[in-house]
Amino acid sequence: AQIPDLFCLAITRVGNLVTVAFNKDPSPIKLNLSVGAYRTEEGKPLVPNVVRKAEQLLVNDQSRVKEYLPIVGLADFNKLSAKVIFGADSPAIQENRVTTVQCLSGTGSLRVGGEFLARNYPQRTIDIPQPTWGNHAKLFPLAGLSVKTYRYYDPPTRGLNFQGLLEDLSSAPLGAIVLLHACAHNPTGVDPTIEQWEQIRQLMRSKGLLPFFDSAYQGFASGSLDADAQPVRMFVADGGECLVAQSYAKNMGLYGEHVGALSISADVAIRVESQLKLVIRPMYSNPPIHGASIVATILKDRNMFNEWTVELKAMADRIISMRQQLFEALRARGTPGDWSHIIKQIGMFTFTGLNSEQVAFMTREYHIYMTSDGRISMAGLSSKMVPHLADAIHAAVT
Ligand code: PLP
Repeated sequence: AQIPDLFCLAITRVGNLVTVAFNKDPSPIKLNLSVGAYRTEEGKPLVPNVVRKAEQLLVNDQSRVKEYLPIVGLADFNKLSAKVIFGADSPAIQENRVTTVQCLSGTGSLRVGGEFLARNYPQRTIDIPQPTWGNHAKLFPLAGLSVKTYRYYDPPTRGLNFQGLLEDLSSAPLGAIVLLHACAHNPTGVDPTIEQWEQIRQLMRSKGLLPFFDSAYQGFASGSLDADAQPVRMFVADGGECLVAQSYAKNMGLYGEHVGALSISADVAIRVESQLKLVIRPMYSNPPIHGASIVATILKDRNMFNEWTVELKAMADRIISMRQQLFEALRARGTPGDWSHIIKQIGMFTFTGLNSEQVAFMTREYHIYMTSDGRISMAGLSSKMVPHLADAIHAAVT
């Protein structure tokens, strides 16, 4: 007898298809600008020296064991992570209004935060920017929230649609949750100014909207941990409630360790923690120990912390320099159009404004790979490859 199919599954491809195509391309001049991870000038992944040093200390410490962590993770890691995002002298921390739990990087922090809200918060709608990181629209419904979008990007100016954003948040249901990128918005690279953040904050507080920050790039945008956390700190300083999902993937190069934290600033912080445990326990029991130990080792030690900030700034500076070099190369070629958005946008990605046909042309003729929405990872670019990319963009738009 025939064995029945247990699963009626269509084949669904998940993951980076652009990279699959890139890997198959034999061309020596191929360039992959689709990857959301930092690369050195030589195109190699980077493990910061301070991370290597912390790992060495951990390995040499014979007293370390590998027992389970508590449900909420490593205590030092949680305490210090809250200081990284809210500031060392944050009144919210000093007044015990913050609860932090270690989660599985940024994604896991968003997922746990989403489910916590679905179970405990009266409003079950989360407003996410249009566009946003593709996983937001997938993970929040699975956490039990319904997703709506607010206007964010303005294609003609390749900047922020601030008026549209304010209008959409004004008409959001009272108390709705709003997902905000703390800095270096993915995929557009477009962030509000500090003055615009202040207007957003006032509007949200006046409507009782709950901010849920996604902080995947702290330090990557400007090179300064404090400057990149400023929008979050504005919301925490006003005493209102706030959630933050923090990732150490990019800013410590700990991608595969998947270490992050969810912090909730609220007057009922203690009760929040017990509810978070109820979310985490049946999901994965408790988080892994290694990545969090690396982070805690670095954050605990003043010298290592300083070393981290220097290495982080070097990564941010290389990205900023790539923006400048690409902008200048296009200007030198007289490429039609205003390319100033390349230097105005912030963080790992540039939303070039190239359409899917132009992207396909650049892949076919120049072996340059990027997502079809025209997003390029500046971190995947090097000085050596800037002329090749500028030639390709020039040819695509003329
Ligand atoms: N949020 C945004 C905006 C991102 O771009 C990313 C990763 O690319 C994440 C969250 C999740 O990162 P991770 O789960 O690797 O920390």
